[in-house]
This record gives sequence, C-alpha cells and structure tokens, in this order.
Amino acid sequence: KQEKIYCAGCGVAIQTEDKNKVGYTPPQALEKETVICQRCFRIKHYNEASTVTLGDDDFVRILNSIGDTESLVVQVVDIFDFNGSWLRGLPRFVGGNPILLVGNKIDLLPKNVNRNRLVNWMRKSAADLGLKPVDVVLVSARKGEGIDRLVAAMNEHRQGRDIYVVGVTNVGKSSLINYLLKQFGESEMDITTSQFPGTTLDVIEIPLDEQSSLYDTPGIVNREQLVHKVAPQELKLVMPDKPIKPKVYQLNAEQSLFIGGLARIDFVKGEHQPFVVYVSNHLNIHRTKLSNADELYEKHKGELLSPPGKEAAGEMVWEKFMFKVPPGKYDVVVSGLGWVALHGKGANVVVHVPKGVAASLRPSLI
Ligand code: GDP
Repeated sequence: KQEKIYCAGCGVAIQTEDKNKVGYTPPQALEKETVICQRCFRIKHYNEASTVTLGDDDFVRILNSIGDTESLVVQVVDIFDFNGSWLRGLPRFVGGNPILLVGNKIDLLPKNVNRNRLVNWMRKSAADLGLKPVDVVLVSARKGEGIDRLVAAMNEHRQGRDIYVVGVTNVGKSSLINYLLKQFGESEMDITTSQFPGTTLDVIEIPLDEQSSLYDTPGIVNREQLVHKVAPQELKLVMPDKPIKPKVYQLNAEQSLFIGGLARIDFVKGEHQPFVVYVSNHLNIHRTKLSNADELYEKHKGELLSPPGKEAAGEMVWEKFMFKVPPGKYDVVVSGLGWVALHGKGANVVVHVPKGVAASLRPSLI
C-alpha cells in the first residue's frame, strides 16, 4: 500500500493526477529524495507562481484561518470582472484585518478612462458588497505598472504584519505574485511550510523580512464568471489582450446590439444616441431591430453570434437586467466582458447576459 507523501515546501498532500489541483507533481518527480509539489518547484527554481484551485470547503478553511491571524489581506480583482472577482464571504472571514483592494489589468484600459473614477467605482462596489478597503490600487501585473505604488501601500498598511494575497482564478493573482517575486525574490528562496492548526493548507510563504511573510493563497473558481461560459480556446476572444478600442453605434430606440453571443443590449426607449462599446477588440458586434433580435439569435447563435460556439450556445441560460439610464454619461457594465457607454438624454435599456453574470450601471469612467 502506498504511503501518503507530503510536499517538503508547503506541506500539501502530493498527488499525480490533476495538474490544476493542489499538490500536483509529475509522477517521475516522486523518485527524488525530497518531493515538492510543482507549484513550489516553480517558485523555487523559476521564481514563478502558478495558480492551483481548491474546492470551496478548503477555501473556506483558508479564509477562516486568515481571520485568526493579524495581517493585511490583499485582494486582487480583475477590473473588467469586478463581480466575477468577488470572493463570497470575504468580509466575514477576514475578521478585523484590513483589506487592500488591487485592481489588475489596467493596461487594457483605453487612454481616456479616468482612473480616479474607476477607483471610486471600485470603492463603492466594494462597500455595496460589505467591504471597506483601506486603499484601492490599480496595477498591471503584465506591464508592471503601478507595482511600486502597490508595494508602498502594502508596506504602509501592513505595519510589520504578514500579508495574505487572495483572489479567484483568472484575476491575474499569479502574474502579480510573479512580478513581486522578480522584483524582490531571491532565486534560492526558502519556501516554508505554513500550517494552520488542524489543516494542511497550501499556502506558500514568501519571506518579507525576519519577522513577516507574504502568503500566496490558492485561487478559488467562481463558476459564475463569464470566462466559464465559453470554451477554453474561445477565451482569447473574450478576454482583451490589447488596450480596448471603443466602437461607436448610433442607435435609435427599438434597436439591439449583440456582443458576440455573450450579451445583448436592447435600446427600448429614448432619443437617438451613441452606444459606445468597450469590449475585447476580437468580439464581433451585431446591430439589429429589437423586434428581430430573438429570431436572429435562434438562427445564428454559435455561428455569426459567437463566442460561445454551437455547443455551449445550445446550453446557455439567459438572464435579463433592466436599467433606466438617467440623462448624462453612464456605463452599462457586463462583468467579465466590458461595458457600453451611453451619453444621451436617458434611455431604457434591457441587458441579456448568461445566467450568473452580473450587469450593472455606473457613472461613466470617461
Ligand atoms: P490567476 O488565475 O489569478 O493566477 O491569473 P493568471 O496570473 O494566471 O492570469 C489570468 C489571465 O489574465 C492570463 O491570461 C494572464 O495573461 C492575464 N493577465 C494577468 N495579469 C494581467 C494584466 O495585468 N494585464 C493583462 N492584459 N492580462 C493579465
């Protein structure tokens, strides 16, 4: 019978079946004298973090343990998917610890976006969800933008305490940790086991100084994220990879816009006005009459109106949001996709999104 092996780096039970789950090690690595999991191996040898996922129960255990520490919690969110980046129950779990909110992927914003407005909106959205971050910092883990400010904010708010970095998958948490490791890490870094009483937690410890450390926690999968509504190979169409180029549509009432096959915006009532779409440059947008929209979708979903492709489109369940957009400049936000800016004399708009994906209204960022 086989004995259980534990990672010499982080203490997690080693497994060889699932690459994306904690404790994964390629089978051939089991022959080594000291076995460490692939995640620890990559940090140790390449200064490179990767994301593994945990089941909800384990994740809740980790969050609970964070509440028992005295630390600064750094939550990473994707600025294009604020709702999808949300960790359910976080405010309850972190206890009295301060939270620093990090908005990642700012390299994708068009130049004319007002960053202060984005920060204000994040603050307000966090408050609506029951969270009062001590600070909100915008970064690009890809380009390194804002990292210095983030480090300064972390040092200011941690006041000598440990840091826990948390985030759902896809927000760019490992990219961010990688960036931090490259700036501050030593290649022969010791990864130490950090175990909370009674649990084997896959939390990687990166020493900050003699007394304190930064802990990278595993990502949790938020199944309601838009990214999970499309096939992996379609992801590169949905997630912007370059700064977004806005597309302008001059619409009359009773017209609709399809954004691929992932969202439909109906302009139900209001005066002629521009709808400016801020989504991945790879997504096709189709304009149609509202009265034809249902039929067009049934006929062309998965093809003209894609992503998602035929298979996923067939299983898609839709949800509707209704907005009475006031006169002025407002954004209709579809979490994980982007937003549509309206600046007219007001409009009644219905937004169709895959079930579970959030749509909301905010004052324009422009
Ligand atoms: P994790 O699951 O939270 O650890 O996220 P990853 O670091 O694996 O990143 C998820 C996806 O977002 C990958 O496709 C990254 O290339 C992309 N990504 C991460 N950070 C950034 C960023 O700052 N800008 C852009 N444009 N993409 C990013």
